[in-house]
Amino acid sequence: MNPVYLDVAVPVPLRRTFQYLAPAGMNPANLSPGVRVEVNFGRQRLIGLLISTSNTNEIAVDKIKPALRVVDDQPLLDAVLFKLCLWATDYYQHPIGEVFQSAIPALLRQGDAIDQTEKVLVPLIKQFDETAFKRAPRQSELLSRLLSQPEGLSKIALDSYETTTATIRSLIAKELIQWDSKTVSVSHFDSSNPQKSDMLPLSNEQVDALKTALTPGTQLLFGITGSGKTEIYLQAIDAVLRQGKQALVLVPEIGLTPQTIERFTSRFNVPIYALHSSLTDKERLHAWRQAREQGAGIIIGTRSAIFTPMSKLGIIVVDEEHDASFKQIEGFRYSARDLAVFRGHQEQIPVILGSATPSLESLSNAVSGKYKLSKLTERPTKANVAHYQVIGTQHQKMDNSFSEPLFELIEQHLNAGNQVLVFLNRRGYSPVLICNGCGAIAACERCDARMTFHMNQNKLICHHCGAAKQANRLCQPCGSRDVVPLGAGTQRLEETLLGRFADSNIIRIDRDSTRRKGEMERLTKQVMAGEPAILVGTQLLAKGHHFPDVTLVAIVDVDSGFYSSDFRAIEKMGQLILQVGGRAGREKKQGTVAIQTQFPDQPILKSLIEDGYEAFANSLLDERRLYDLPPYSFQAVLRAEATKNGIAMAFLNSLASSQVVSSALGSQNRNAPSVSVLGPIPSTMEKRDGKYRAQLLISSSNRKALNSILAKIISLIENNKEQRMVRWSLDVDPIDLL
Ligand code: ADP
Ligand code: ZN
Ligand code: ZN
Repeated sequence: MNPVYLDVAVPVPLRRTFQYLAPAGMNPANLSPGVRVEVNFGRQRLIGLLISTSNTNEIAVDKIKPALRVVDDQPLLDAVLFKLCLWATDYYQHPIGEVFQSAIPALLRQGDAIDQTEKVLVPLIKQFDETAFKRAPRQSELLSRLLSQPEGLSKIALDSYETTTATIRSLIAKELIQWDSKTVSVSHFDSSNPQKSDMLPLSNEQVDALKTALTPGTQLLFGITGSGKTEIYLQAIDAVLRQGKQALVLVPEIGLTPQTIERFTSRFNVPIYALHSSLTDKERLHAWRQAREQGAGIIIGTRSAIFTPMSKLGIIVVDEEHDASFKQIEGFRYSARDLAVFRGHQEQIPVILGSATPSLESLSNAVSGKYKLSKLTERPTKANVAHYQVIGTQHQKMDNSFSEPLFELIEQHLNAGNQVLVFLNRRGYSPVLICNGCGAIAACERCDARMTFHMNQNKLICHHCGAAKQANRLCQPCGSRDVVPLGAGTQRLEETLLGRFADSNIIRIDRDSTRRKGEMERLTKQVMAGEPAILVGTQLLAKGHHFPDVTLVAIVDVDSGFYSSDFRAIEKMGQLILQVGGRAGREKKQGTVAIQTQFPDQPILKSLIEDGYEAFANSLLDERRLYDLPPYSFQAVLRAEATKNGIAMAFLNSLASSQVVSSALGSQNRNAPSVSVLGPIPSTMEKRDGKYRAQLLISSSNRKALNSILAKIISLIENNKEQRMVRWSLDVDPIDLL
């Protein structure tokens, strides 16, 4: 018999598989791609994943080591997920072992069995004499409960009864009960009656959208906040559950959307698992298994949940599809939204991408017919839509970011007994501490960045590398004591508001004020109580939460978004304005969104406010088309960093001038798709966390051409020894170029 070689994806940052011999005595016919294989790699023992088997050896036969063991008899990932990972490996040009690693739970990466065991309390007797336990009612109760459930009670099940560890210990001492270990079983969810609470009768727009949502393919569900998108998700999922199939829902950040999860659990009778970052490894594996073996009807999760195996997947929903958090920005830089579209296509099931402010990528896919488009333009509840008011600050005297008209507006809303939300996407007290004597600015030593002043700790903190130091009000270079904060963060807004509205309740919600566990819940509860208050916050406030008593949303500074070197900044600012605006006056109350800007007449802001997101997006799309920017071209950024200045630039320069690149650029004849290379240029923040950074932008109007040149560049790097001096990474479809 010919030897069988196993091609194994090993968890190392290398863009290839490694060959091993099937373990002695193992029948290769029993090996399916997707099972885990434990192997020796260098001096380590690693758990890899079998990608394929073959009869040809890639290296000398005597150099091929036998695998140590095959861990599973069934593949971990189903065929579609397996294909998804392979596709992503190629699309993102990322090391195959790392791609497969990110698709499986940590405990499985370490070689644990899929079937978890749990400790259960079991009775050792068949009956007992209750009269003997007259003086120990707790023991008596627990014993009779265990006798009625002889298969045993898990710790979790015990938690829901009133029993104590002392009670358990006494009964164990009397040898009446004991702890046993039992495999956790998964039973299929019951799909006969998934509905717990009533469906809402749909509006005409919603009826059309739902019909589209139920046919295979990707649907862009473009609906203003409060237009009933979530209701469409719920009803589409209901239909899917009734066919015995499962639903996967991706959301930006679970901690911020307790209300969304609550809507799912109160609607459906099936087990729902939320996958989020605060799960323990054990809980994560448990949920993963429930999904894979159909114990779960619905999985709600963030980005990485796209890799959850679901044997009967019937629909994927991506809520707030424009949200940046769907793109991983380190390591394996995938877009969960784009993987969702691929996965849905492979499974031939519907994928709903929902948003009030869709990404330009998705909009253009809808226009080109690649996605189906459904629009929801009205609120079924007839709740008021906020109206927008632009406050030009160019001729105003400002009191720390507030113009007098804005103060007055805030006052009106407070006097009417309502709440006000003041939004600024910068935490801390002020972004700059400056010396009025010599103009020196407190800068981070490790980054090309100013340090943010945090007043209540009297600290300077770098928001880019985390470096912190005591704030010194005595200028080192010139000895002046006139060192003052310049510009504002949320802490300073809070202070200014306190000065003006001394009697008001001011609640700051940002990463600093919600750091402690339970603090977010406490603050939101305070807001929900409905008393007049001013909420001051960052992006954290723009998402998820729905505050019914907020009637005024004030965005104190939009100009940073309109004047940025990143061509996407304006799209993001527009989305943010509407998302934050969606928090105003959703119920019966009329909402107002006030926007402060030095340039009140700029047409793009006018178009956003007067004509709505679609008109705004269309004019941005025109611009992108004109300049050949995404979505009309495809981009990748090759980033490099090194501790010594100049190294990263030189590294990228040598690539940019290489044969591989110049021949691709040279092929600009009419038939060959063109590739263009921009740079290298130093990154916008050239020095960060002690490293000097640079980047090379590679783009093409043709996806295949881009992919092929990236592959060539990478193999060039990997065969180059200088590579060791720099850390480099590739980002395909980057969401920012900073
Ligand atoms: P979105 O997800 O687009 O923000 P939701 O689905 O949360 O919108 O709907 C906003 C509000 O409108 C919710 O209170 C929801 O219960 C209600 N709603 C949605 N659809 C209907 C409908 N067809 N009839 C009545 N109320 C509806
Ligand atoms: Zn000075
Ligand atoms: Zn820093």
